[in-house]
Amino acid sequence: GETSVKETLQREIKKYGLDEVVRIVETGCMGACSLGPIMVIYPEGVFYQKLTPQAAVKIVQEHLLKGRIVQEHLYKMPTGEVIPEAMDKLPFFAKQVKIATRNVGYIDPGNIEEYIARDGYFALTKALREMTPDQVVEEIKRSGLRGRGGAGFPTGLKWELTRKAKGDRKYVVCNADEGDPGAFMDRSVLEGDPHTVLEAMAIAGYAVGAQQGYIYVRAEYPLAIERLQIAIAQAKEYGFLGQNILGSDFSFDIEIRIGAGAFVCGEETALIASIEGRRGQPRVKPPYPAQSGVWGCPTVINNVETLACVPPIIIKGADWFRSIGTPTSPGTKVFALAGKITNTGLVEVPMGITLRELLYEIGGGSSTGKKIKAVQTGGPSGGCIPAEYFDTPVDYESLQKLGAIMGSGGMIVMDEDDCMVDVAKFFLEFTVDESCGKCTPCREGTRQMLKILEKITSGEGTEEDLEELERLGNIIKDTSLCGLGQTAPNPVLSTLKYYRHEYEAHVKEKR
Ligand code: SF4
Repeated sequence: GETSVKETLQREIKKYGLDEVVRIVETGCMGACSLGPIMVIYPEGVFYQKLTPQAAVKIVQEHLLKGRIVQEHLYKMPTGEVIPEAMDKLPFFAKQVKIATRNVGYIDPGNIEEYIARDGYFALTKALREMTPDQVVEEIKRSGLRGRGGAGFPTGLKWELTRKAKGDRKYVVCNADEGDPGAFMDRSVLEGDPHTVLEAMAIAGYAVGAQQGYIYVRAEYPLAIERLQIAIAQAKEYGFLGQNILGSDFSFDIEIRIGAGAFVCGEETALIASIEGRRGQPRVKPPYPAQSGVWGCPTVINNVETLACVPPIIIKGADWFRSIGTPTSPGTKVFALAGKITNTGLVEVPMGITLRELLYEIGGGSSTGKKIKAVQTGGPSGGCIPAEYFDTPVDYESLQKLGAIMGSGGMIVMDEDDCMVDVAKFFLEFTVDESCGKCTPCREGTRQMLKILEKITSGEGTEEDLEELERLGNIIKDTSLCGLGQTAPNPVLSTLKYYRHEYEAHVKEKR
């Protein structure tokens, strides 16, 4: 096969006898997909992008041996200016505020000491030595942190409910079953900074009174699983997991559970069933997991990105966290930019940033030269937001008002060439495939909606079909058992609301 950039670097560095003085550190993803592969050379901080094995040879020969910068792999600003120490100056990075992904791309995820060097396990130490479990819960409550996996439920409240629930055994579960097409922020954190998830889970365990944690990861993420396994072993060796952590009377252990890739297993109750070894199907709530979760015991379930915010909150305090973002949505959110946008990749931004800043200043605008028409947020549970609304601040409430949702943070950008009916169909096909079939509205209703959409796109649709789509969509939303069904019609309903003329154009083809 082809030799990778890393292998070439290793070979060349060895060839010139530089292996004593130059260390290659493989980090997680820095998020700038469209620039990759990238490399930063320290101590100067020179940022090279779009690397090839040939470029790696040249960088070793020129930069490392002779101290000469290799111009053609530097980043060119939109103004044409070239800056070698570009990392923090690139428009893509400059406007980002990194909390959940603060270490991703900066440390070697396989080395616990690099995590510790960046304040790793300091939050756990602080919680155990200086705070009572109630104080930890209170701090998270006051921070206003909300679930980053979709619905935005207040994290501190979840912790409090689990803490107060009766039961000798309690559990902490990390939901790493990231299933939205286009979203990969959880994967990035797991692969690039696995210890932050372990540390946060241990803090949650201390706060709610649990001794056991599970990380539910999808089987499609083998590298994440491997890095978590290494991280768990290291954390045990260093005394951050296991019996009597840091000499306290708190003990906490974490096991990995591997999911088989059913989208519905991201739903809390289905995920719990799957952890217990049962078929991953949702059940009616209440009782909520805080009362009755894994094996009927009180359980707190948080998503990866949510957990990754916990250690900085414990170290820097709730007020610091609240100073970023908006009053109802404090902190940051990680988004995955995809579609017709120049800078694709992962970005972490303060809540309240407008879609325009996110898409144009960080995302670099359209990649096709055509106007951006809309952005689809929240994946298969989300909706389309037309360009007229791009001054809307990104927070849970504002997106919901537009008929979209924050969701896990997928953002697919569409230009004037994209047909909104096709977009809606794409997501509906996904949910039809992933519906677990337990309840009728979701199982049959989404299938029926898809049939109508197919009829419309093949030019056979009528005005009545559009009304039927709306009617069915609303029934499915109101009567489905779990979140998957309750949100499945969103892509169709939001495009029908804002782009009815495109549906009508298909319908009119017939006449
Ligand atoms: Fe299963 Fe869909 Fe019902 Fe959820 S809404 S339980 S995914 S059939």
